[in-house]
Amino acid sequence: MLRIKNSALRKIIAQAERDYPYETCGLLLGKFEEGVRTVFGAYETPNANPERKHDRYEIEPKDYIQAEKKAKEFGLDIVGVYHSHPDHPDRPSQFDLERAFEGFSYIILSVGKGKVVSYKSWELIEGEFRQEEVLTFG
Ligand SMILES: [Zn+2]
Repeated sequence: MLRIKNSALRKIIAQAERDYPYETCGLLLGKFEEGVRTVFGAYETPNANPERKHDRYEIEPKDYIQAEKKAKEFGLDIVGVYHSHPDHPDRPSQFDLERAFEGFSYIILSVGKGKVVSYKSWELIEGEFRQEEVLTFG
């Protein structure tokens, strides 16, 4: 299960709409406790895949390290990744599956005509994505 602060969710949605028709991406900063990931902030990272921005995203190690530093300042960790699917459903692609890690939450937002139409969160369990419940707070 994923709990996400309203302000973080609003930031992610705004970012996904702003970057349409390209994929947007970033990291989820929060805490993992008793099987629940709680997200307090979203850390935007540039999409480092300039050739295929419309259907790929890539986070550079240097941005990951920056995000981790930021998280530590607030006593948090990186607990997941978010990215958008312009004009595609909020389901993970084969490409997403190949790059996913167990222990992270993956929020995918479907953006149609510049507006977020839906989003879901996924976690990788034994090599397969499973949808997880998303609750907002704050
Ligand atoms: Zn994707």
